[in-house]
Amino acid sequence: MVLRSDWSERPCPIARGIDALGDPWVLLILRELVSGVHRFEKIREQVEAADNILAKRLKYMVETGLAARSPYQDGGRTRYEYLPTQAGADALPILHAYTLWAEKHTPSEGHARRLTIVCRRCGAESNSGEACSACGAALTAGNVSWIRPTYDDHLPRPLTETVAQPG
Ligand SMILES: [Zn+2]
Repeated sequence: MVLRSDWSERPCPIARGIDALGDPWVLLILRELVSGVHRFEKIREQVEAADNILAKRLKYMVETGLAARSPYQDGGRTRYEYLPTQAGADALPILHAYTLWAEKHTPSEGHARRLTIVCRRCGAESNSGEACSACGAALTAGNVSWIRPTYDDHLPRPLTETVAQPG
């Protein structure tokens, strides 16, 4: 997927990171994959993307090692779901950084917070996206819950612990 000139060989790691992760749809899809949402229709519903936009990004994410395709059976038909790889799951602090930045600088008028980062080790809400601001635990997908009022279940639940090998 070419959206601009290739920054993948630039010396600055911020530029290389933006090259890999800078597409807004890719970040929203990663939000779903690390949340345990792995199937095309459900990802589409959550990110509100058209089929072609989503299909193109998922293909890119598999090619670049952010996600892996995994087969499942759907009424006798083999379909594929998308799991975050370790590289994809390692983007979690970036998603947290977006959350914390947006809550500070682009507050949603008249609305409660839309995403709360909860440490599963101590149960506290974290004001930091990398390590729990209460107990210091690293906030990886296996020990974080998000409280998202916009989600179906409205309940805190663990982020996915499923991490696939790229391919
Ligand atoms: Zn904690």
